[in-house]
Amino acid sequence: MKSLVADQTSLYHSTTPSPPVPNLPSLPLNNSNNGFLSSTNISPLPSSFINLDQGDPVVFEAYWRKMSEKCKVEIKGCELLSYLSDLRSVCWFMMPELRDAIKRLHALVGNAETDDSHIVIGNGSTQLFQAALFALSSSFSSSSDDPINVVAAAPYYSEYEDQTDILRSRMHKWSGDAMKYDKNEAYIEVVTSPNNPDGSIRGPVVNKKKCGAEGKLIHDLAYYWPHYTPITHRANHDLMLFTFSKCTGHAGSRIGWAIVKDKEIAKKMTKFIQMSSIGVSKESQTRVAKIIEVLCDSYKNFKLGSKESDLFFEHSRLFMKQRWEKLREATKQNGYFSLPNFSRAYCNFTNESSETYPAFAWLKCKKDDADCESYLEKELKILVRGGTRFGSDPRYARLSMLGRGDDFDEFLKRLSKNI
Ligand code: PMP
Repeated sequence: MKSLVADQTSLYHSTTPSPPVPNLPSLPLNNSNNGFLSSTNISPLPSSFINLDQGDPVVFEAYWRKMSEKCKVEIKGCELLSYLSDLRSVCWFMMPELRDAIKRLHALVGNAETDDSHIVIGNGSTQLFQAALFALSSSFSSSSDDPINVVAAAPYYSEYEDQTDILRSRMHKWSGDAMKYDKNEAYIEVVTSPNNPDGSIRGPVVNKKKCGAEGKLIHDLAYYWPHYTPITHRANHDLMLFTFSKCTGHAGSRIGWAIVKDKEIAKKMTKFIQMSSIGVSKESQTRVAKIIEVLCDSYKNFKLGSKESDLFFEHSRLFMKQRWEKLREATKQNGYFSLPNFSRAYCNFTNESSETYPAFAWLKCKKDDADCESYLEKELKILVRGGTRFGSDPRYARLSMLGRGDDFDEFLKRLSKNI
């Protein structure tokens, strides 16, 4: 099953392997996957299979169905023709209403400082991650022409590696587990907190004394929202990435944003997005600004007496909590797997002590020589992403907690029965 995408792409693409580029990581090119490393399963599956591989956030659909009318946007034929939005902003293609909405959202949740920083939007935080690599790699003080090492502590988000190396850039290269990094060479460390895949709260880990070289940080805070984790502080790092995909679940709108302290870095990131897509769809920006407005207004209206179930984060937290409780119960019955435990913390947003309900479950097979991904695929017809994709070992696998209710319930049924 791992080759579903590869099988699919080979039908449509005829590829010629490119010659290797000297001094750069050699990527395994093959004719069946168009040189794309990822084995992410995105093609149709036989109906007996359940795909919990991707973190497609459709779990939030039920909430947004209730809000459908309020979130409606109308765009007339004569509107949004220009590439340009706000020439006074570093990010000239960002619409002021989206910038204001993003700031309002962070002020409401208290999860990130936006004052005295620049906001740069992108086509998902995926594009912003690459923009950040471009901007940071070209701003190191060392004069070496070697590509900058990009690292993240394992288990790390499986896509960082492909996103770093896909263009075989001379600017940066993937160098794996940040815990093991001890080269005396400049590096960029990606800190993902809460972490995908295991939900842990993280800080930088590269040992500067041991490594001795200049290092820069990207904080990927895609999951630092109150439905997944307690909001314990207002994050205030040099370069922070957020995505609408995991905040409200509107992944299809492809909007992400970076909060960047250094104006020159923000300018370079903007330049990267200009070069790769000349900005970000204004239809998407308009929609996202509207949805954020509706979300924030519901908190304002709550104070005036509207229902708690109208509050997005409270509603979604409850959903995540119920899923996690069911998963823990089914895992206990099955006995073959274990799950990470998370300590409670005081959440400044909800004003109470609360638990963590990550967007992914990081399952571990209890048997030492087990392969968690193949076990779930072969025995239960459940597709998950195996631990090796995250720089970890095959006893682990990541499964999405954000999928459709039917799929999730069927998965639990199979897990509980398979004792
Ligand atoms: N960072 C992390 C940690 C993620 O899990 C994801 C989505 N899976 C992204 C970035 C990318 O999000 P998007 O491109 O949809 O904004």
